[in-house]
Order: sequence, then C-alpha cells, then structure tokens
Amino acid sequence: MLQIESNQPKITQFKEKIGLPLSKSKISVLQINLGKRCNLACTHCHVEAGPKRTEELTPEVCNQLIEVIYKFPELKIVDLTGGAPEMNYGFKPLVEAARENGKQVIVRSNLTIYFESGFEDIPEYCAKHQTRIVASLPCYLEDNVDRMRGNGVYDASIRALQWLNKLGYAQDPNLILDLVFNPQVPHTEKFSLTPNQSTLQQDYQRFLREHFDVEFNNLFTITNLPIGRVQQHLQRKQLYTPYLQFLEAHFNGDTVENLMCRNELSIDYLGNIYDCDFNQMTNIPAKTRTGETLTVAKLLEAGRLDLIDEVQTAPYCYGCTAGSGSSCGGALV
Ligand code: SF4
Ligand code: SF4
Repeated sequence: MLQIESNQPKITQFKEKIGLPLSKSKISVLQINLGKRCNLACTHCHVEAGPKRTEELTPEVCNQLIEVIYKFPELKIVDLTGGAPEMNYGFKPLVEAARENGKQVIVRSNLTIYFESGFEDIPEYCAKHQTRIVASLPCYLEDNVDRMRGNGVYDASIRALQWLNKLGYAQDPNLILDLVFNPQVPHTEKFSLTPNQSTLQQDYQRFLREHFDVEFNNLFTITNLPIGRVQQHLQRKQLYTPYLQFLEAHFNGDTVENLMCRNELSIDYLGNIYDCDFNQMTNIPAKTRTGETLTVAKLLEAGRLDLIDEVQTAPYCYGCTAGSGSSCGGALV
C-alpha cells in the first residue's frame, strides 16, 4: 500500500491498482470546457461554476479550436461543456464548425439556461444544428433536484424537456436527448454505488412520461468524484478519505478498457490540454511522451493528435472505476 501525499488518503495508487500505465488510445473526442460561467451553482459541481464566474474561452483559442476541428478528421465528437456552455464565448462558432465537418456535437446543458434572458433561442438553435443534448436531471423527484441545484430548477428543467420534445428531441432519430443522474453528495459513511443505469432509466422514463409527458433517449449515471465542491463538502464532514476508500474497495477492472480519458482530449478555456475534465479541474495537465504539457496551439503546430502515451491518474480515478464505472457517457460496463 502506498500513501498518497495529497490529503493523505490511505489508498493504493491508481496506477499500481491497474498494474500498468493507463495508455491513451486513438483520439476521437474533443471535449471543450468553454468556461466557468453558469446561471446555476449546484452543490455537486466539480467545476465550481456559477453566475459570478467570468472565466471563458477567448476568441484566439476559439479560432485555434475551429482549426483543429477542420484539420483532424479522426475527431468524431465535439463535446461542449462548462459552466453552462451556451453562456460562454465560442459556443455557436464551435457548434457550427463541428457540424459543417460532419462531427457529432454534444451540448451538456443544465436546461434552465433556456429561460434566461438572451438564451431563449438555444433550443431551436440546437435542433436546427442537430446537436445531441445531454442534460442534467440529477433525480426525477423535485425535492432532490432543487436541493442539489436550487429552488425552481426542477420545474424549469421539466418545461425545458417538454420544449425539446416539441422540437422533435427524443422523437426524431437525429435529435438525441439524454439525461444525467448524479447521486446525492454523501452526508454520512453510508456510501452507496451509483444505481444500475438501465433500471434507473426505466424508472425515470416511467415517471417523466406519466407525470409530464416527457420523453428522452438515454439516462447516464455519473458518480460524484471527490473533487471541487464535492471534495470540499466531504472534507468538511471528514468523509473525504473514507469515500475514496469506499470507491477503491469497489474497483472493477473491467471498466478500465472503456475509460473516457483514453480516447479524448479535454481542453480548458485557455487552450490547455488534459486527459479528462476532472484532471482539468484539479489542474493535472496531460503530458507528452517527453513530459511536456500541451496546448491547442502546440497540437496545430505538431499537426497530429497522438502526442500523449499515458493518461495522468489520481486517487479520484477510483470514481470512474467503481462498480459499473462512470464517464460523461454514463456507466462503462
Ligand atoms: S449547471 Fe452544471 S456547470 Fe452549472 S453549476 Fe450546476 S453542475 Fe456546475
Ligand atoms: S478521473 Fe476518470 S476519466 Fe479522468 S483520468 Fe481518472 S479515470 Fe480517467
């Protein structure tokens, strides 16, 4: 057993657990975090986004990203996240560049943004450009959602889903609408794994159809990783180390093959490159085989995407490998 220096969790180093360096595979996904501006400030937010944050993409980095989208046909998916990606600079130019190049565009939306002044056109815009919408709805019950995301968020989310359905989302095969379930942040040592994704999807579908006439395509269950606001909360409750130990105790080696960090590049609003959004939030940059950090400008200069051999890992990687696993696309096995 190795002791990890930071926060002193008594857990096995992730790399030692999997027995090999976590290798990068062919890059096919570009996940761009457009910035920290968001109309909400959720308790489980690993980005610590909110209405007072001002960090967002610059025109220069946005143009470089557009060049990357044009230059690399092996990129199949452009995944836009934030903050609320719709609120941050570069949202529409990136959607349009990616769609022009035949890439699938994922917009990770909190749904409530559609009711903020200046953003009312977003649902129609997304439908017109056939973006896939992956929307947070951390529970199908109102109280749980409002406790995690703020009063009135559930009601606004339901109205947004009805709006998207009217535009053809979850009806037209080109208009995919997925929901994301995040468990409640733990308050005691009675931790539990994320529930079974397909069973929970059926529960969501039944409840939302019966009560609100809402349809969606897939439900993704995403584990709370102990970083950002979740880490602060766990540390306040002295649950940080026990939670990591719980995640490690439920390590499932079958998830490793499908970890999202293996085939994606995660980009921050400054154009720096990471192996995943979680490493971005904890400031662990991706490294080339010679140990250099990367930027979008350096990728363009090199003219290739395969500059990283090994994914940088951390204790919170156990959140992605516990039980059925977890990623931005839900369970892994
Ligand atoms: S909506 Fe998403 S980005 Fe915004 S605060 Fe909530 S979790 Fe964070
Ligand atoms: S946090 Fe998850 S996605 Fe990120 S490097 Fe670790 S295992 Fe990969």
